[in-house]
Amino acid sequence: MDRDSDTVFIDGEWIRARGPRRYEIVSASTEETLATAPVGAVEDVGAAVAAARRAFDDPAGWAHWEPERRAAVLDRFADALDERGSEIARLVTGQNGMPITISSASEAVFPGMLTRYYAGLLRDTPVETERPSMTGGTTVVRHVPIGVVAAIVPWNFPQTLTFYKLAPALAAGNTVVLKPAPETTLDAYVVVEAATAAGIPPGVFNIVTGGPETGAALVEHPDVDKVAFTGSTRAGRSIAETCGRLLRPVTLELGGKSATIVLDDVDLATEVGKMFTCTLVNSGQTCMLGTRVLAPRSRYGEVVDAFAGLVGMLPVGDPFDPGNILGPLVSARQRERVEGYIAKGRDEARLVAGGGRPEGLDKGWYVAPTVFADVANDAVIAREEIFGPVLAVIPYDDEDDAIRLANDSAYGLGGTVWSADPERARAVATRVRTGTVGVNFYNIDHHSPFGGIKDSGIGRELGPEGLASFRHTQSVYLG
Ligand code: NAD
Repeated sequence: MDRDSDTVFIDGEWIRARGPRRYEIVSASTEETLATAPVGAVEDVGAAVAAARRAFDDPAGWAHWEPERRAAVLDRFADALDERGSEIARLVTGQNGMPITISSASEAVFPGMLTRYYAGLLRDTPVETERPSMTGGTTVVRHVPIGVVAAIVPWNFPQTLTFYKLAPALAAGNTVVLKPAPETTLDAYVVVEAATAAGIPPGVFNIVTGGPETGAALVEHPDVDKVAFTGSTRAGRSIAETCGRLLRPVTLELGGKSATIVLDDVDLATEVGKMFTCTLVNSGQTCMLGTRVLAPRSRYGEVVDAFAGLVGMLPVGDPFDPGNILGPLVSARQRERVEGYIAKGRDEARLVAGGGRPEGLDKGWYVAPTVFADVANDAVIAREEIFGPVLAVIPYDDEDDAIRLANDSAYGLGGTVWSADPERARAVATRVRTGTVGVNFYNIDHHSPFGGIKDSGIGRELGPEGLASFRHTQSVYLG
């Protein structure tokens, strides 16, 4: 059967969803309904997990293939994804309003790049290693796939975050049930096309669409062996509770409220433009952004002016126009939430830029990039993740104070340190308690572990650590 708005992808086929409910996928920039998709019911989740289970348990199946055979299929998958890159970028931008320049540089290329990278790691990482046993004999340590993986992703970088999970999970020999975010469903269908073209066997990769209830049913399913989740801290906590009760391995990539630490020797004129990518990119809808800007009292006014000047220069509008640096927020609900924080900020701090909706944009959920100054680190807008284009500039006394403020957060995901002296910035960066931190730059490195501490999550994705997180070890004692 061909795909239509009533189907889900299970066991290599588009099949009619059992659940009767449907949801609408709506364009963030035009507010038009683009398509509808099924809300996966418990029965749909059950069928998808059963297919993944059968594929995993097949003694001649994916999990048992020689690494080279799986790697060759993954290389073809990467090629098929690359061929569809511009289509994926257009679909992501059409749904969530991400500027096309960003979707073309991330969503279009990272799926293929990550898949090829993990195919290479699969070739280079031995599945079995031997070591002399402490008690005599030899121990063989085997790195075996975990089983059926439930991958649940958000809408902000839907393809990139899917492949943080899908590529290492498949490389390790697992089978996967993916639940995309309802806001970004159409790009996930292209992954099915690419997987089918590459010859990924039936049942190895399945998709069930839907929202939180569908996701929760997947997390709860008795035949799921591991959950890999990216999303809000609130949903992550609930998933962690379920996985704790079930003793089910889980990785959680959650929210953030990172710090951008501006040291007192920084050359603002050259650096502030670079700070855009680690404070506001994708209209602030990026988990690792340093939306708390920590500024030295000695240069506080200059830093505030630099950020106010920066946001004043950013073109906001149609995300398909490559001249626009910021697009809309993903949904009416998200804009309402962000505007609620802006209203709160007006009570707590001094508004220096933005604070409203950009002029001349009648359709789409746009918010003007906004800067608040004189923010206390215990203000709501400094403590809670806003997930919109809103910065809080917080004054600090000296380096120790900056580090104290940076670490005084429930979250621990990203952050950056900016200085004319890279060694000085690096020394400060190593005192920031987060899973990742950048020095005069921030770019997620796919070859190195990524993730958070505290309310930002548990576990790591990417790099060899990302592959290891989709494997169990088994020690075989040889006498
Ligand atoms: P969300 O938590 O509402 O939803 C994320 C996904 O989980 C969606 O597919 C959703 O349908 C599903 N879901 C929601 N509740 C669930 C539940 N109880 N059980 C199972 N599945 C559930 O988040 P969102 O609003 O889509 O995304 C924004 C959040 O994601 C932000 O907080 C952001 O910081 C975070 N995020 C984190 C990272 C990271 O790597 N740390 C990356 C991107 C986004």
